[in-house]
Amino acid sequence: MSKIGVLYICTGKYAAFWDGFYASAKENLCIDSQLIFYVFTDCEALLNLQLDDVRFIYKKSESWPMPTLMRFSTFLSQEKKYLEVDYLLFCNANLIIEQPIATAEIFFDKPYFATIHPGHVGKDPQKFPYEKNSNSLAYINNAAPYYVCGGFNGGRREDFVKMCELLSRNIDKDLENNIIAVWHDETHFNKFYSERLNLFNVLPAKYCQPQGWPAKDDPIITVLNKEFVIGVSNKGAFYSI
Ligand code: UDP
Repeated sequence: MSKIGVLYICTGKYAAFWDGFYASAKENLCIDSQLIFYVFTDCEALLNLQLDDVRFIYKKSESWPMPTLMRFSTFLSQEKKYLEVDYLLFCNANLIIEQPIATAEIFFDKPYFATIHPGHVGKDPQKFPYEKNSNSLAYINNAAPYYVCGGFNGGRREDFVKMCELLSRNIDKDLENNIIAVWHDETHFNKFYSERLNLFNVLPAKYCQPQGWPAKDDPIITVLNKEFVIGVSNKGAFYSI
């Protein structure tokens, strides 16, 4: 049985999403695999919990967009712990796994997987919301066929860790140059994907479907509306998942 490390960040108000996410993931996410959750949080109540399949890790709450922008370095801070798993998968805090996902194979038959961003399905790649500043390390010369979301992605352990190292370095260098890419980690992830298309398994947008959006298919994963649940609305972040 393969082991999947589920990376999950929930600092500040986002801790409110944990219970629903955890229950839905245990029920439906990769039923053929063993899941181990790595939860980065500053929530005392969670840090005091003892659960066999969850490693709660203290992470200070920071102001927007740091919790999301710095996620790759957050993950790397616990790199040694991941030796116990074969694969790593990141889930945004406000996800609910709605339908059973029978096997991990659909994610990990290539080194990485990404999910098509529901806000950009069928759009002209020239109009994808990439970083426009050519001094940013997230700047893209050649648009990829899809714009992928930051909120649900993963890969084989060693590959995913290598990606985190590269993207964390690129984000740090951008910060040294006073640059924050337009959609933060998601913009850097899209750059990484655009240069390695053949290494990626790309999932349809029903794996990251915003709550209440009309869609052709029933969602496999729903993205809960943050404003309804915790009253958070990141300026214009509607299209960043
Ligand atoms: N996040 C967090 N605490 C915060 C802000 C963000 O833990 O105060 C994490 C959480 O995992 C969240 C992710 O960063 O799912 C992305 O943030 P958000 O969902 O607000 O942004 P979006 O993905 O909608 O751009």
